[in-house]
Amino acid sequence: MKGHHEKDHIKCSFCGRDKQDTAVLIAGINGHICDRCIAQAYQIVNEEFANKSDRNVSRSLNLLKPIEIKAFLDEFVIGQDQAKKVLSVAVYNHFKRLMQKPEREGEAIEVEKSNIILVGRTGTGKTLLARTIAKMLNVPFCIADATVLTESGYVGEDVESVLSRLLQAADYDQEAAEKGIVFIDEIDKIARKGDNASITRDVSGEGVQQGLLKLLEGAVVNVPPQGGRKHPEQKLVGIDTKNILFICGGAFDGIEKIIAKRLKRQTIGYSSHKDRGEIDEENLLQYITPQDIKAFGIIPELIGRLPVTTHLDPLDAKALKRILTEPKNALVKQYQKLFRMDRIDLTIEADVLEYVVDKAMEFGLGARGLRSICEAILIDAMFELPSTDQKSIVITRDYAIEKLSHSTLSTLKAA
Ligand code: ADP
Repeated sequence: MKGHHEKDHIKCSFCGRDKQDTAVLIAGINGHICDRCIAQAYQIVNEEFANKSDRNVSRSLNLLKPIEIKAFLDEFVIGQDQAKKVLSVAVYNHFKRLMQKPEREGEAIEVEKSNIILVGRTGTGKTLLARTIAKMLNVPFCIADATVLTESGYVGEDVESVLSRLLQAADYDQEAAEKGIVFIDEIDKIARKGDNASITRDVSGEGVQQGLLKLLEGAVVNVPPQGGRKHPEQKLVGIDTKNILFICGGAFDGIEKIIAKRLKRQTIGYSSHKDRGEIDEENLLQYITPQDIKAFGIIPELIGRLPVTTHLDPLDAKALKRILTEPKNALVKQYQKLFRMDRIDLTIEADVLEYVVDKAMEFGLGARGLRSICEAILIDAMFELPSTDQKSIVITRDYAIEKLSHSTLSTLKAA
């Protein structure tokens, strides 16, 4: 009798509404919940999550001050102090900007973002810096190559594809993507040829620059989520680029001449001989200014959206040697780990490292060459040893010379 009575009066255990006053009433072990309470609870859960992600941002901000960001970069990237410093500040400010509350009218000081240009020869660590920063942060990150971008309507990728990639890196979480970091490599390859727009025939680069400008300006850009033009039926997503940090990298081959010309003009114009004597002719990139980048063929509007310019130093033999052994995932450490997985102890003698560095300098490949050279030296050992009982191998200079002379790399010398 009692059970029957209760059934007639089933209520939501949260708001107390009778069953007949609800659209749906779901039974649990010890109670019931109605559709309205479910909706309300869902909203509370969402708000709680939103607050949490806010706290995450502030936690990363608390954890990582510029000096600490740089210390993290130091673990993976050798040298490049100036670029590290500039990047650390830019990333720190990026987080501060993400945290800023919309201000009341009248007191609107809005921190604007500082997109960055990294200028440095290939293989000096531009991409590595960008990658390392991404590793440290919990924001979506992607690398795009400016050379594959074309003006819309041409063969190649539309500029918007850069954002498609970011969206993919964010697992299609649009809100996260809008706080991400994009590294655009080889930005110098879309420079227009010649400083004077009216006499230039090559305008293709300029079209792409105009396209990029759209992304950097902080507008809402319609992005095909899957990228590419192959799926014309896909629905576009509007991505607000206002808070996306853009880091552009390029070798800017030949820009030294532009810098030298400007420096000469300036020293003759205003400065004393003493100033001229202080110019380090070996590393002119350190004097780079936005003006030089403009003279190289990047349109002023785009430069205006990339207000921070910094340089990477060329890597000398000493730096290359450190790169082989010092970073947290230095090449030598990586090979040792690979061999250790087969319980083989790998020893590389000190003069081998010197030999590898000499060859990398000779081939003119910079740090990029280190890996190919090590690979050429170690390929036979990596091929054969896992099938033998040998538990250790010592790489001597003679061994290295012999292995490299039989590899295709040795033909590079002729080039
Ligand atoms: P870039 O983007 O300037 O052309 P990368 O960052 O792609 O050069 O460098 C190529 C590789 O060379 C990296 O993956 C890394 O192994 C090594 N490398 C280059 N510069 C450095 C550096 N400063 N410190 C440590 N490793 C470096």
